[in-house]
Amino acid sequence: MIPVRGFEGRKVAVFGLARSGLTAARALKAGRAEVVVWDEKAEAREAAAAEGFALEDLASADWFGLSALMLSPGVPLTHPKPHWTVEKASAAGVEIVGDIELLARTIAAAPAHKRPKVVAITGSNGKSTTTALVAHVARQAGRDVRIGGNIGVGVLGLEDMHGGAVYVLELSSYQLDLTSSLKPDVAALLNLSPDHLERHGGMEGYVAAKRRIFLNQTKGDTAVVGVDDAWCQQICTELTAANRRTIVPISARRAMGRGVYALQGMLYDATGERANEIVDLTRAASLPGRHNWQNAAAAYAAGRALGLSVSDAAEGLMTFPGLAHRMETVGAIGKVRFVNDSKATNADAARQALSSYPRVYWIAGGQPKAGGVDSLADLFGRVAKAYLIGEAADAFARTLEDAAPWVKSGSLEAAVRAAFADARASGEEAIVLLSPACASFDQFADFEARGEAFRAAVHELAAPSAREARA
Ligand code: ADP
Repeated sequence: MIPVRGFEGRKVAVFGLARSGLTAARALKAGRAEVVVWDEKAEAREAAAAEGFALEDLASADWFGLSALMLSPGVPLTHPKPHWTVEKASAAGVEIVGDIELLARTIAAAPAHKRPKVVAITGSNGKSTTTALVAHVARQAGRDVRIGGNIGVGVLGLEDMHGGAVYVLELSSYQLDLTSSLKPDVAALLNLSPDHLERHGGMEGYVAAKRRIFLNQTKGDTAVVGVDDAWCQQICTELTAANRRTIVPISARRAMGRGVYALQGMLYDATGERANEIVDLTRAASLPGRHNWQNAAAAYAAGRALGLSVSDAAEGLMTFPGLAHRMETVGAIGKVRFVNDSKATNADAARQALSSYPRVYWIAGGQPKAGGVDSLADLFGRVAKAYLIGEAADAFARTLEDAAPWVKSGSLEAAVRAAFADARASGEEAIVLLSPACASFDQFADFEARGEAFRAAVHELAAPSAREARA
């Protein structure tokens, strides 16, 4: 945990007690702030109270006694309309911060030799991939890397800082709206396309939130900016004119006089005198497609800005294993490969995975979403058999009916065993795919826990076969 600096002995209210909120409350407490917490959901309040936090109903609280309101990024700040806590805070002149802001202040308060490096990454698409990729590249090069923000754990739950550490942060537009003093050593904006407009009051508000990532950068800091869309191109032009930091434009579409770009998958570094071929990205197993070349160009540029050598930065791209829980191969036994796509919590996401394979042994189910898997009917022909788990099993069985064979497996472990037995019996190259098209909360804490349970079940299957092989 990273104890928050700057609020010692001051009263801070935390509103929104999901993962990042509760983590922030703990980190504020560890930093000796007087913390009060509130959430509209009774269960969330009870969980916080059980942990010893003081509950205070912010609807009737004395706001003038508060130093700050720590808001969860899920809470509307401005649009469609400001949340009531935002209005009360504004009326009382209480500042509103997010957990990234608390981290930023804590870093700023640290003595120079203890201050870690910060790489911050945003964009409309590719944030998680690029964040994981930068972390992998830096880790391969021997750096002590922590990853958080919109991915993984809330940032304040990360291991405490030291001067040699690198924090790689994925930042959403909501988080950036709650952040005012972050000064990333490297900030990357990948791309912009209309998204979350209802929360930002239109494209202008959304773009303004995203560009906050560069707000406090100065000489010595690096901005990595995608230039493959008009909005980012405009931002790149403005940053260049401001001339306050090093700028590395990146593209996956065209060669540039200066910058890092990929053409037909070949990555070029043109930040020096001339353009050098760096690496053929078509050989990187986990970075297929032009969109991933954009992510790779950004990660390479970020790695170089962190001081990595050209070969270290390039090498890491080639060995990237892909994101955990997103079409991640977690093992293979004989001709059967196991793919963990636990992140697919709705039918649209599961569609991507199902479309990738001609024939799959498909593990699906969990806490169902509206519409279930009705929209995937055109892909049922690819399903060799479906193994249905969790609350959705009955509904999914009704949807599948005769379109594909199915069985209700109940638990994930039983599903993995049954799918493996059938896949192996087929005698062919086969894929066992966990792509649930459901939330995980009926059986797991979250999609990560579900993915880890899948990985463990696969390893469990693999272990005896490894023993047999040795015998
Ligand atoms: P995010 O964290 O921004 O949602 P992810 O890295 O999780 O992005 O990728 C989500 C999906 O977006 C991927 O499955 C892929 O289809 C697509 N994607 C990834 N990178 C890019 C990119 N640079 N440009 C456009 N689409 C992308």
